[in-house]
Amino acid sequence: MLKNRRSRLKRFFEESGLEGLLVTDLRNVRYLCGFSGSDGALLVTQSDCFFLCDSRYTSQAADEVQEAEVRECAVRLDALAALVAEKGIARLGFEAVHTTVNDYRKMADRLVGIDLVEIGPAFDEIRCCKDRAEVESLMAVAGLASRSLSSVLKCIRPGISEADVSLELELEMRRLGADGRAFDFIVASGVRGAMPHGRASNKLIQGGELITIDFGALKDGYHSDETVTVACGEPGGREKEIHAIVRAAHDLAIAAVVPGISCKELDAVARNYIAKHGYGDYFGHGLGHGIGLDIHEKPTVSPRSEAVLEEGMVITIEPGIYIPGFGGVRIEDTLLVTFDGCQIMTSADKSLLML
Ligand code: ZN
Ligand code: ZN
Repeated sequence: MLKNRRSRLKRFFEESGLEGLLVTDLRNVRYLCGFSGSDGALLVTQSDCFFLCDSRYTSQAADEVQEAEVRECAVRLDALAALVAEKGIARLGFEAVHTTVNDYRKMADRLVGIDLVEIGPAFDEIRCCKDRAEVESLMAVAGLASRSLSSVLKCIRPGISEADVSLELELEMRRLGADGRAFDFIVASGVRGAMPHGRASNKLIQGGELITIDFGALKDGYHSDETVTVACGEPGGREKEIHAIVRAAHDLAIAAVVPGISCKELDAVARNYIAKHGYGDYFGHGLGHGIGLDIHEKPTVSPRSEAVLEEGMVITIEPGIYIPGFGGVRIEDTLLVTFDGCQIMTSADKSLLML
């Protein structure tokens, strides 16, 4: 399976004329060899793969690393230099986005005469379409997070703080087997709902307020992402109106998901609906994003995106309306693009629950 992932690099090797590629972003390292630890690097050539780590990780690497030779080293740069010489690599690619200027200088000083080539967003493209194992991991983590919400909604009542809701949610996720939370949860009630990224605060939730809860779990390296907007008791008419508009925009966009649609067009489905109902100025962010080993991956679903949906991509759909001084609504699901549409992975109820 991991060999298949590495074979996706083949075209890239050929186009860039690389003889070796140093992978230092740990998500990419995990993607290519299975190592889940917090330090290590991978040297990939057209025919071989070497995992470099220090002695803290040797036994973990022995358990996890697949289809790569593990080389323990006290100084990674020494091991890299030895391998570059051993394999006769003259052109070595490295991940510019994940290499500090300092590390680059050290590498250039040590690998004299080697052509060091910055690689662009190769992994962004390669990781866009998920393979079966990734889809299974994403399904599992999405299901777990959705289940965790249902019991937490029971604790919402006037007087509970946003921070307590967030904490309960994280505890429940962990009880259900999550390794942790995917990001700092957004729990934004009342006027705070106007902040698309209003992290849970000590504000106490009041009766009649809307509460936007954007949450996700992390398990086996994969993330989930889902948002509900619920009400504490009976909300006002305008709150109900914007919830209904966002819900309809969300449903329309999901119905439009199919391989071949451009992300720009998909974004427009939701955006135009919201604009048609008079709230176009209150939906400032993109409609969604890819998700996987990172919480935000390619493709981006926005008016500026150049991407086109393909079968196997996993994206979010998350329209919102945010009215300063009033509040807001966002509704988000994560879904897998299938050959004829999509399969929704997250399962919390998206209707306006009045708790
Ligand atoms: Zn989210
Ligand atoms: Zn999201």
